[in-house]
Amino acid sequence: MIVSSSVVSPRPWVWLDVDDVLVDSTPIFQESMDRWTGKTIPWQTWTHNRFHQFYGIADEDAATIARMRQRWKDDRVLERSPFMPHVAQAMATIVNAGADIGLLTARAWHSEGEAITREMAAQAGLSIKAVISIHFHQTKADFLIHSGTQVVGFIDDTIRHVEGCVAAGFNAVLMDQPWNREARHLPRVANLEEFAQQIQARLASPVPPRRSPRP
Ligand SMILES: [Mg+2]
Repeated sequence: MIVSSSVVSPRPWVWLDVDDVLVDSTPIFQESMDRWTGKTIPWQTWTHNRFHQFYGIADEDAATIARMRQRWKDDRVLERSPFMPHVAQAMATIVNAGADIGLLTARAWHSEGEAITREMAAQAGLSIKAVISIHFHQTKADFLIHSGTQVVGFIDDTIRHVEGCVAAGFNAVLMDQPWNREARHLPRVANLEEFAQQIQARLASPVPPRRSPRP
């Protein structure tokens, strides 16, 4: 994976997932899915995040998956996803504690996913140093290991990404969501403020963060 040299900085880095961590996108996805399928399946009942399966769409059905993604694009789900509460304050807490912030999102299904994310952060005046968009099947732990950044924290709502990052030795936590509640073995936070406070405490303590090897 190629990482821009601008990603590498001597400051510690905090990496955040975007959907369902920084922005509240799932209600917008549900709206799009409900309208398309004629079913109503409240996101609060989603017990895993391959939520298209609740609508009867199988992963092997590539043609339907492609149509579904086109629907999401047409419905502008990424562009319309609102920020979670207190995002600006949480990001400021992290930056003031001495870390740079990167967004690590699996929005590569959308050709404009990275650009939309950059624009969203810029509009909100967030201090974001890097935006990386990967494909759903890729692993975020692999990215962090090869990023060359000194990672002090990572947050995601997807169990397998947090699991992978914890296994790789990173300080990784789950953003609490209905679809990850079964993962009791992983650390979790209820909101971004709680995450930012943990990062602040960590940067104030003498425990060294994990430095990932350079690629
Ligand atoms: Mg997410």
